[in-house]
Formats: sequence, structure tokens, C-alpha cells
Amino acid sequence: MAGWLQNWRRRRWLERSSIAEPEWRATVACQRRLAGLTATELARLRDCSTLFLHEKTLEPAGGLELTPDMGLLIAAYACLPILNLGLDYYRGWHSIILYPAGFLAHHEYTDATGLVHRVQRCLIGEAWERGPVVLSWADVADTLKAPGENVVIHEMAHKLDRLTGEVNGLPPLHRDMKIADWSRAFTAAYEHLCREVDRGRPTALDPYAAESPGEFFAVVSEAFFGAPDLTIQLYPDVYQQLKVFYRQDPLVWMNRIAIDSGIDRLSPGVE
Ligand SMILES: [Zn+2]
Repeated sequence: MAGWLQNWRRRRWLERSSIAEPEWRATVACQRRLAGLTATELARLRDCSTLFLHEKTLEPAGGLELTPDMGLLIAAYACLPILNLGLDYYRGWHSIILYPAGFLAHHEYTDATGLVHRVQRCLIGEAWERGPVVLSWADVADTLKAPGENVVIHEMAHKLDRLTGEVNGLPPLHRDMKIADWSRAFTAAYEHLCREVDRGRPTALDPYAAESPGEFFAVVSEAFFGAPDLTIQLYPDVYQQLKVFYRQDPLVWMNRIAIDSGIDRLSPGVE
């Protein structure tokens, strides 16, 4: 569809069918981790969430009873990473399948000898190639309580990563970014985490990030939005790259929350 036509349709949809303010405030605007967004950013998040719910379908599975607040929360956290990128970053897929809890995923892979293996694993989230995102509602709700974890952001990061092909921790960088800078920052951080995991040391970042560079990008994206103070302390170069890629600085939100709460600034050098 031509860009102008899609933009016109989106504007019309927003004028007619925007998420109602009372529902938005009751479900989303009171979320602690969104409290640092400005009124303008929150309004943009609401518009993006309205369009997200219009353009993607939410499909209950496994006996889940879908309620409107589930869709609102998922849409808001799905749209947070693309708040300054645009909904077109989620092009090429159309649905979210929502289970009440962890679900069994069946996968097939072929080993080096050509033998086909069929495995099943219990997952809390999955992002298919050119297909749906699958989520466990129990884990979406749980991860909303843990500051540095968010299964919705995790799966959306995989979708962004897939825009360049396979999930390898390299999403489509902007023109003002360099693959060499991204690679240097992420490789050093990933190797550091893998060493810590190999030594059996407790890690500040979810050790699942050591599974692969793709999982590292998804896990560190969760931490970037949910625990930016920890992320910048752990991996400052990765934080800077994510800040440029997502065109957002969640540490600024965190500082606003701290100021509103009467707490000293968390990071005096950052605006
Ligand atoms: Zn993952």
C-alpha cells in the first residue's frame, strides 16, 4: 500500500476509533514504568497502541478468556520500543496468539547429517518468522511486575531483529549508525556474559541472554526499557547503541520518576 494512503487511513482510524481515555488511563497510564513518559509521549503511545490493535489480531488460545485490558497492555508494551520508530517496523506479520500460561511449542530441525529432529519445549513467548507472536498471558502479567523483564518487549525485539533476516542480534540500523560500532559493543557484552555464565557466577542480566546473540539483543532490550540504570552500568556501550537504535533514552524517564518521587537524580549526567 502506498505510504500516503496508509497514513491517511491510520489518521482516519485514530480520529474515529482511538482507545477511550478512561480505559487507557485505568489500564496503561498508571503503569509505574510508563510514569516517566511525558504527556506527549503517552499520547503517541496511545495512538500507536490504537493502530496496533487495529492492524494486528489478538487470538486467544488454550481456553484463555480474552479481556480488553489484556490487549491494551500488550499493545502498549509492544509499541513502547517503536514509539519513535513507527508501526511499520512491525510489518509482515498480523497476529498475536495469547495462551493463559506457558505453552508447548513443536519445532523441527535438521542436523548436520540430514537427520530431522522433532522437539517440543514449554515456552512463555515466541516470535515466528513472518508469522505470529505467541505469548503466555500469565508471564506477560508476571514480567510486568519485574522491572528488567518484559516478555512482550522481548518478542518484539525478535521481530525487529528478524527485519534483517535471521535472528542474530542485528536489527536494521539507522543511517547514522555503524554495524562495526554495534558489533563491537554487543560482542564484548555478550562474551562477557557468556564467561560469567560459564563460571557459574550470578549475573545481573538474565543468563538466558547467553543462549545466542539474538537472545542477548532481546533480553538486553527488555532491561534497556525496564531497568535502564542497571543496563547502562553493566554495558554502557550497548546502552548507547540501543539508545540510538530505539531513539529513546529510558534513563530520562527513570530520572523523571525519581524527581517526581522526591528522590535524587539516579544519573546526574544524563538528560
Ligand atoms: Zn527469545
